Amino acid sequence: MDAVYCCPHTSEDKCNCKKPLTGMIDKAKKEFEIDPQKAYVVGDMGMADMVLAKNINARGILVLTGVGKGSLNEFRDTWKDVEADYIANNVLDAVRLIINDLILPQ
Ligand SMILES: [Zn+2]
Repeated sequence: MDAVYCCPHTSEDKCNCKKPLTGMIDKAKKEFEIDPQKAYVVGDMGMADMVLAKNINARGILVLTGVGKGSLNEFRDTWKDVEADYIANNVLDAVRLIINDLILPQ
């Protein structure tokens, strides 16, 4: 069974699901047997995606597509206390990193 979760809110809505808040992950945890510590967050926005990964104790993979390069440069200060576990050129590269990580766990 698969699911797609989406936060339709803006910051002004004060919801609990806008990344890096964990509302969507909390909902998925209730509906599926998910262990966030064994999960990966793949995204291009450091302040949302990599901070979310930290907030749920998952591994974060920053992709350089979308705003990924900007996240590492002019927007790096917006997530300065967090490091991406991996940096991938694109989503396919991220998938390869995950497969390698699962085959060769550290
Ligand atoms: Zn929301």
